[in-house]
Amino acid sequence: MRTSFFAGVLLTFLMWGCISEPEDNTAEQQVEPVSATVDTVNSAPTVDEFGIPVDSVEIQKHIVKRNESLYLILDKFDFSPQEIHSITQEASNVIDFNQIKPGQKYRAYVSADSAKDVSQILLQSNPLEYVVLDWQQDSLQIYKAARPLSSKTVAASGKIENSLYQTISSQGASQLLANRMANIFAWQINFFGLRPGDSFEVLYDKQFIGDDYYGIGDVKAAEFTHRGETYQAYKFSHGEVEGYFNEEGESVQKALLQAPFKFSQRVSSNFSRSRYHPILKRRVPHTGVDYAARPGTPVLAVGDGTVTQAGYKGASGNMVRIRHNSTYRTAYLHLRGFASGIKRGVTVEQGQVIGYVGSTGRSTGPHLHYSLYKNDRPVNSRTVDLPSSEAVPDSLMDVFAEVRDSLNRQLKTKIDTTQGGGPVITQVK
Ligand SMILES: [Zn+2]
Repeated sequence: MRTSFFAGVLLTFLMWGCISEPEDNTAEQQVEPVSATVDTVNSAPTVDEFGIPVDSVEIQKHIVKRNESLYLILDKFDFSPQEIHSITQEASNVIDFNQIKPGQKYRAYVSADSAKDVSQILLQSNPLEYVVLDWQQDSLQIYKAARPLSSKTVAASGKIENSLYQTISSQGASQLLANRMANIFAWQINFFGLRPGDSFEVLYDKQFIGDDYYGIGDVKAAEFTHRGETYQAYKFSHGEVEGYFNEEGESVQKALLQAPFKFSQRVSSNFSRSRYHPILKRRVPHTGVDYAARPGTPVLAVGDGTVTQAGYKGASGNMVRIRHNSTYRTAYLHLRGFASGIKRGVTVEQGQVIGYVGSTGRSTGPHLHYSLYKNDRPVNSRTVDLPSSEAVPDSLMDVFAEVRDSLNRQLKTKIDTTQGGGPVITQVK
């Protein structure tokens, strides 16, 4: 069953290697668990963190050993070969037996009396998910479940000394957070060109399973100052509208990526109206940008759209063409091959892999030729003003403004608090 509960959320303020946790800033926030088997309504029996009653049972904790199968695990608990056979058959719908790996945790719940009857065996797939074999009823019940995730909204800030990644890791936050911020501001800030003195503030969710840290949840708001200019992003989702928006409710995301790669690649030949062609040995317009990426590098669709062509075409080699809307089209040339499912007529999403860098067609070596067309005219993808994704509609601006102001308060409270009564300083791991 699904349950929801209120968790007291303590805003943690992470600054330059120090965490301060001012108690007067405790805020109530509703947290939705992913899934829960713990029945918090009829909480008569004592249950453990997996929602299993633990009164008058003994819990035997184990770790899967090398070459240990479900068969061998069950064998330990005195099931007969016939019983094990029928259990493994029933369990095969729920458990992928190939996923039982050495090091995985499992536990058996056995009666505290001398009979040592097994009532449940619980196998943890990962810190979050688990499978239970349950003999409490007349027949064996097998189910998958997940422990509830709780989250805590946390504010962090920092000044760039070398790279964003170093700054963030010196604070004890994870690289994942740096990646998230780089993705949010990908269109405004070149994260390979960060400068010492650039700074950021970020409000994000830390997820926990019980008391154990699990991972980073959503980035809710971020402010980035790069070369003296400040950029803001607020996460807002309401019905169909979802994304990161600036103060004015304009999307910080663009409808098109600047380059069709996940990581920045070296430009080997720029867009030019007149370029000396190395193979043709004369000056011809170069109506795209060449990226000298390693062969096999995944090539991404720069925006949502429909594939209008995916095949081999003379000098272009293997190429993909995408129509994004009535104004913009893109083309990706010299591919080694296409991603599976990429063919004429299919729709693709921004960032989806469509093919792999190669050297097919008229090409002197592995590279991607990428062309952007605006109203059927080739334009320089590196200098053109890319179209923005849709802004928050006027009808939702009031709702958005409320969300934005609340996020801003949470981002800024940290600074006020630091200036006010002395924060409690604890050590950062
Ligand atoms: Zn080219």
